[in-house]
Amino acid sequence: MTVQPPLPDNAFSRLGTTIFSVMSALALEHNAVNLGQGFPDEDGPLSIREAAARALIDGPNQYPPMPGLPVLRQALARHAKRHYDLDFDWQSEIVVTSGATEALTDCLLGLLMPGDEAILIDPAYDSYRPIIDAIGARAVGVKLDEDGWRLPLAAIDAAVTAKTKLILINSPHNPSGRVFSRAELEGLADIVRRRNLLLICDEVYEHLTFDGVPHIPLITLPGMRERTVRVGSAGKIFSFTGWKIGWIMGPASLISPIMKAHQFVTFTTSPALQIGVAHGLDHEQEWYLDFPRQLAKRRDSLVAGLNAAGWRTMPCEGTYFVTADFRPLSNANDVDFARALTIGGGVTTIPLSVFYGSDGPTHFVRFAFCKKQATIDAALTRLASAKAPT
Ligand code: PMP
Ligand code: GLN
Repeated sequence: MTVQPPLPDNAFSRLGTTIFSVMSALALEHNAVNLGQGFPDEDGPLSIREAAARALIDGPNQYPPMPGLPVLRQALARHAKRHYDLDFDWQSEIVVTSGATEALTDCLLGLLMPGDEAILIDPAYDSYRPIIDAIGARAVGVKLDEDGWRLPLAAIDAAVTAKTKLILINSPHNPSGRVFSRAELEGLADIVRRRNLLLICDEVYEHLTFDGVPHIPLITLPGMRERTVRVGSAGKIFSFTGWKIGWIMGPASLISPIMKAHQFVTFTTSPALQIGVAHGLDHEQEWYLDFPRQLAKRRDSLVAGLNAAGWRTMPCEGTYFVTADFRPLSNANDVDFARALTIGGGVTTIPLSVFYGSDGPTHFVRFAFCKKQATIDAALTRLASAKAPT
């Protein structure tokens, strides 16, 4: 008799495959226009690719320093000063990571202990919960209000217990497309200070805000410098989502344990891509400040087309995404609806309920508009003639 090897039963073995891979595979299978997974269909600046390509040929090609190449950490410090008047010591307060996904994992590993509670704002980006679960901490979800995706400050305050260690917030917010206002952020900062918590801010869409709506890093608010870490990603700033260059900035007291997690999660990340991103931060400011203006036009055409086809779109002030309530068209639940719309309607979206810990609304899907106008037009033509899945 052969003895079966033991199978794992843990936070990861119990998971399904991330919704982004599932929906992109379905889009491919059914030749649908993919407005699901958030990636631009045009690459960012050539000069950044050239800088990275040169570095790949000329080197360095061996392990960069564990916290990241000095040239990138220094460029990141200048970027934070230029846009937010923030001063970071590039040697002790900035770490370069393999994407924001690693950055967020490092932050959670470095700051949480088993038994701690971490408050998430639902709908929450899908990588947060599995890492918190794997640590043996507990994710406590508090829901954005479904009428306008506003921050539920009273509910957040009520969710804090003696075990709460931190709040993880994302603004500009994926999947909702909200950019939280100064008043909302001040309310959150007040809770964090009053309840003596830490804050992880996922700011990967920091430059993708529209119509003059400002992105305000929470770390700039009074009393927050010592208790906040901010996470960024070159993938979103420069439309290179495949590059996976991210970073973390914060006080040395918090960066130190986070860096110890980073040293054993990846240790470091591709030197050529780090050099490309450093070049971009210093020399492609015009490009990354103009890109949101282009994106806002795509949002406007998508929203107009959706509204004309009977969808109820929600507010969108930033990111790659707008959410839409499809109840005027269908009573299906969002997961079935998104599947059927891909297969029968030829357009792929992301159902929103998968971003909730429990009891999420099942009548919203998310559309990505970080696409060429022709891609959006093709999707809208299909949606205008598609029979809504019931
Ligand atoms: N946080 C949010 C809110 C995101 O949308 C994403 C996806 N791009 C990430 C983190 C991960 O970023 P990266 O691709 O740099 O790992
Ligand atoms: N951040 C992207 C999105 O929200 C997806 C990233 C991924 O596929 N892991 O669509």
